[in-house]
Parts: sequence; C-alpha cells; structure tokens
Amino acid sequence: MIHYKSEEEIELIRQSCLIVSAALARVAEMIRPGVTGLEIDVAAEEVIRDMGAVPGFKGHHGFPATLCISRNECVVHGIPNEIPFEDGDIVSVDCGSIKEEFYGDSAFTFALGDVKDEVLRLLEVTNESLYLGIAQAVDGKRIGDIGFAIQAYCEREHHYGVVRELVGHGVGKNLHEAPEVPNYGRRGSGTKLKEGMVIAIEPMVNLGVRQVMQTNDGWTILTKDRQPSAHYEHTVAIGKEAADILSDHSGIQIAVKNNPNLKEILKKN
Ligand code: MG
Ligand code: MG
Repeated sequence: MIHYKSEEEIELIRQSCLIVSAALARVAEMIRPGVTGLEIDVAAEEVIRDMGAVPGFKGHHGFPATLCISRNECVVHGIPNEIPFEDGDIVSVDCGSIKEEFYGDSAFTFALGDVKDEVLRLLEVTNESLYLGIAQAVDGKRIGDIGFAIQAYCEREHHYGVVRELVGHGVGKNLHEAPEVPNYGRRGSGTKLKEGMVIAIEPMVNLGVRQVMQTNDGWTILTKDRQPSAHYEHTVAIGKEAADILSDHSGIQIAVKNNPNLKEILKKN
C-alpha cells in the first residue's frame, strides 16, 4: 500500500533529508586515504544527533551503524570498519535519519585520490542517471519510466551493469515503503506516479556485470566479478511539473571541491 503524504509531511521528510545531506557533507570534508569507515560513521552520527534526529539505519533489521560504507567492488550495505581508505578507492556512503517520525535517505559515492579514469566515468554516469530518473518523477508518469531512463543511459549508452536485486523505494514513516523503484524497466509500465508520493531513487551501477552476491556477514553486497560499483541516491517528492528533490547534494559537492583528496564528480549532460 502506498502512503500518500500531505504537504506538511513532505516538509518533515525534507527536514530529515537535509540532516542526512549535512551528515554526508561532513563525510565529504573528512574522507581521505588513511581515514577509516568507523571514523566517518562516528562523525555522521554526531551531525545527525546535533540536529535533533536519530540515525535511520542503526538498528534497522539489526544493521550496526549510522552509515552504509561500500568500497570499490562493494555495491551497497557495507558495514563501517577499521580498515583505512586507500588512494584510488571509490567509497559509496549511504545515510538515513529519522526526524519527527519521518525518514530521510540519500547516498553519494566519493572518488579518493588517483581513481582510474574509467572508474571516475562510472561515477559520473551513475550520478547523471540519477537525475535522468528524477526527471521522470512527475505526476502522470509511471515507475517504469524512471527505471527505463536509468537503465537506457547506463546499459545501452555506457554498457555498464545495472543491479536488479536492489531497488529504490517509497520513503515516509518507514525507511522502505511501497512502491519499489527499480533502476530498470519498461516505459509506461508500473505504478502511476502521483503528487503526494515520496520515493528514493538510487541507481546502483557496476562497471562490469550486473550480477551481485551477498557476503556471509549478512549485509555486504559485492559485484560478482569484483569490479567497482557506484551508487547515488536522492529522496524526491513527485511533482506536477517536476520532482521536488528533498535531499541536497550541493553541500557535498562543495565539500568535495574543497577536499584536495577527492576527485569532483562532474555532470556532463
Ligand atoms: Mg540509502
Ligand atoms: Mg534508499
């Protein structure tokens, strides 16, 4: 069942998303080779609690941390650990918060130091595909239009692998609500999008094959061929003319630009 949100509820979700965005901007300031996932996890939790919210992932189905930190061949759901990041890593950081009962959810993949050109391009294309998906998040379109836009760009144009097993989702008083928002699909298929729907769009795109596997920690998802994978996510409200992007990556992008250890993720379309 889809929970349609009132304007007031959408504003609460926006507040929660902006707290997530602030936590990710803090991550963007401090992430570099030598820093560990546990260190950025602590910093993100501090931002969230200072802003009067609680981490949205910690304790969710038993997940142990504030952030999902997924390096290189890890697609999503990586658990923060004590292993320092290295020059050349790509690191997806996914964050959630709960503020006045409502979740926010957003993710960004960072490029640390000397990342290979083909991997940097994977990050750029995945980020671009997120906005192509968001452009379809308009009243009267369908869920399949979002997935089609992402899949066509990533697979047809760039020959990457779009992950099938994990998908975007509705967001509200639950972290994952109906409808599911796949990053693949057929134009004009699936649930009709209406104002009042709030969804997380989150392409997970692999440099190599689309297939993934789960490790025996019960969380970590890896690419089957161990090639790198990228992940970007916004929570958006379906709009009449255009989607209303409730999370905000602009603070992250500024912090990335100012952090000499990171490569900028430029949008080329
Ligand atoms: Mg997320
Ligand atoms: Mg999500």
